[in-house]
Amino acid sequence: MGISSHAEKFAAPRLDAQGRIELVGLNLSQIQALLVEDGQPAFRSKQIWNWIYQRGVTSFDDMANLPKDLRQILTDKYVIDRPKVISEQKSRDRTIKWLLEMSDGQQVEMVFIPTPSRGTLCVSSQVGCTLTCRFCHTGTQPLVRNLGPHEILQQVMYAKDVLEEWPSQGEKQARDLTNIVMMGMGEPLYNYENVAEALKICMHPDGLGISKRHITLSTSGVVPQIIQCGEELGVNLAISLHAPNNELRSEIMAINNKYPLEELLEACRNYPGVSASRRITFEYVLLDGVNDTDDHAQELARLLYNIPCKINLIPFNAWAGSGFQCSPLKRIEGFARVLEGAGYDAPIRRPRGRDILAACGQLKSESQRKVREQNE
Ligand code: SF4
Repeated sequence: MGISSHAEKFAAPRLDAQGRIELVGLNLSQIQALLVEDGQPAFRSKQIWNWIYQRGVTSFDDMANLPKDLRQILTDKYVIDRPKVISEQKSRDRTIKWLLEMSDGQQVEMVFIPTPSRGTLCVSSQVGCTLTCRFCHTGTQPLVRNLGPHEILQQVMYAKDVLEEWPSQGEKQARDLTNIVMMGMGEPLYNYENVAEALKICMHPDGLGISKRHITLSTSGVVPQIIQCGEELGVNLAISLHAPNNELRSEIMAINNKYPLEELLEACRNYPGVSASRRITFEYVLLDGVNDTDDHAQELARLLYNIPCKINLIPFNAWAGSGFQCSPLKRIEGFARVLEGAGYDAPIRRPRGRDILAACGQLKSESQRKVREQNE
C-alpha cells in the first residue's frame, strides 16, 4: 500500500523537500498505520510518539530504544521538523516574539508572555486573516493560507526547545510554558479541523500533556464552531467582543453582520462546561470615544448578564491608519469601575511586549513593513 492509499486516514501526507513524511502533527494511530505499512511492529509507534512529543527529539538517531536498522529506515522516510527561525526579539518585560518561517516560506509570529504565576504562549492558526476587525493590524494582512496541524504544533514544540522544557534538556523546578492561547494571527475557528487536530495532540497525556484547562481558544465569534469546539476539545473560550451592541460591533467587526450578538451570546451560554469556576473570557479593547463610555459599560453589563465570565479590558495599541486612539487610562479605570460595580471581574490588561510590537493585534505588522521596505 503506497502513501496515496492513506488518503482516507490522512488529509494529505505532508512531505518535506526530499519527499520525507513529516511526523509532527500525526496522531498515534496515524504513525502506527505508517509503521505497519513499513512492516514494523505496531508497538514501535508508541515509542516513536513518546520520543517526538514527550522527549522532543528531532533526530531518529536519538531514539535509543529503537533498533539501529529501524532508525535508518525512519531517517530515510520520515522527518521531525521545526519551523525556521527568522528572528527572535526579547522585550524589556521578558516577552519574547519569534518570526517563524514554514517549509513553503510563509511566515507567522508567535509570542511568549511570562508572568510570575504562568508562562503563556500565543500561537498563530493562519497566515494572515480573512477578517478585517478595524482595530487589528494583523487583520490588514489578507489570508494566505491555513496552518496545518503540524505547523501549529511545531510552534509549541519550538517554544519548548527554546525554553528548555524537554527532559533531555535537564531537570527544571517548574515549567516556564504553562498555558497556550490560540490568539495569534488568524481566526482559529476558520481553521477548525487543523486547530482541533493540533490541540488534541497538545492535550493528550502522552502527547505534549498540556491540560485543556490551560488552553484557551480565542474567536471573533464564529458561532457554528463554538459549540463544536466545546464538545470536542473542552478548552477555555475567549471571545473578542469589543462592543456592547450590534450596531457598534458591526461597525468595527464585520463578522458581527454574519453572527450577531444574540447568536454569539447564546452559543456562549451553551458552551459545554461553562460555570462559575470555568468562565468565558470576553476581550474588550478600549477605543477612545468609540466604545468606552460609562453608558457602554452599563450596556455591556446588561448584555453579559447571567453568563459566567470575566471581561478583560485591553488598552488599544494604536497604529498608523487605524483611525483609533487608546482611551485614556482614567477612562479605562472608570469603565472597569462600572463593570465591577455590576459584579463583574474586569481586570485591565497590562500591555506586554510593546517595545517589540508583540501586543494584541500587532503581530507580523512590523516584519511585513520591513519586507516592504527591503523590496522598495
Ligand atoms: S482580531 Fe483576530 S479575527 Fe479579527 S482581524 Fe485580527 S487576527 Fe483576524
